[in-house]
Amino acid sequence: MISHQLGQPPDGPTPDRPRPYPLHATPHTPLRPMWCCRACGRPWPCPMARLLLKTEYEDNQIGLAIYLCGLFYEATRDLYRLNPDDAPAPADMFARFVAWGPHRRPIIRG
Ligand SMILES: [Zn+2]
Repeated sequence: MISHQLGQPPDGPTPDRPRPYPLHATPHTPLRPMWCCRACGRPWPCPMARLLLKTEYEDNQIGLAIYLCGLFYEATRDLYRLNPDDAPAPADMFARFVAWGPHRRPIIRG
């Protein structure tokens, strides 16, 4: 099959987490398509978003990993459309969106 005949993957998750904390504060969720934090303006996920996500998903580490991977996909698509000549490197995007999340098993067992 030729790659341009492949269908587009469906959209990723809606970036509506972490929930606002305190309840009436501006949530540390991403503003699309720039993927900066709507509360503090830093690149998303900002330090507060990471802290709140880790707390919110404390009992659902797999859910957090899936959510982050979905947003990694969405952000990569947005940022490459927004600035195709100067978008972040894929490794930087992975580090920003996925690598800080739930830890995986080490490659080598100690
Ligand atoms: Zn923030």
